Amino acid sequence: MSERIIDFKKMDGLVPAIAQDSLSGKVLMQGYMNEEALAKTKESGMVTFFSRSKNRLWTKGETSGNFMELVSIAVDCDGDSILVKANPRGPVCHTGADTCFDEVNDSKTGFIDQLRAIIKDRKNNPTDKSYTASLFAKGINKVAQKVGEEAVEIVIEAKDDNKELFMGEAADLLYHYLVLLEAKGYELDEVMEVLIDRHQKK
Ligand SMILES: [Zn+2]
Repeated sequence: MSERIIDFKKMDGLVPAIAQDSLSGKVLMQGYMNEEALAKTKESGMVTFFSRSKNRLWTKGETSGNFMELVSIAVDCDGDSILVKANPRGPVCHTGADTCFDEVNDSKTGFIDQLRAIIKDRKNNPTDKSYTASLFAKGINKVAQKVGEEAVEIVIEAKDDNKELFMGEAADLLYHYLVLLEAKGYELDEVMEVLIDRHQKK
């Protein structure tokens, strides 16, 4: 894949830059970048725009402390728009809203896709230190057995009233469930297809 070139000349040295939450996928805000803003974003790891009202570089969060940590940068097909994936440290909008489009941005479920990618990587590139790799090495029976054990443990915690212990078991079950899918060679998306299909049949 050839690297896409940004055409800063098209619009007087500025291109629109759309900031997206790398975990939730929500659009956070839109600003403009010139070459310096883009360079500063890459160099500092904090998303920096060119503010037309201030007429200078503006690092998002420089006054509020709600920086947006850079995750990745992509350029659109025409080379005149930038997509910045970021982790916001707090509400993005000056109004106090999570995003400039007045959306709530509190979902962390996008992390499941990162976790799936890590699990797949542990399967394909096992290391001695990885617990996940050790599960794959023990085979499908052991992985399935672990899911069964974790399921029993969450049942036990469900009957109790300790949120911390319950959350721990809930995380264990979800993680081992994802490992089981990977061990079987199936994708979580295929489970989603089953659910979507059932939903549509209603
Ligand atoms: Zn705003």
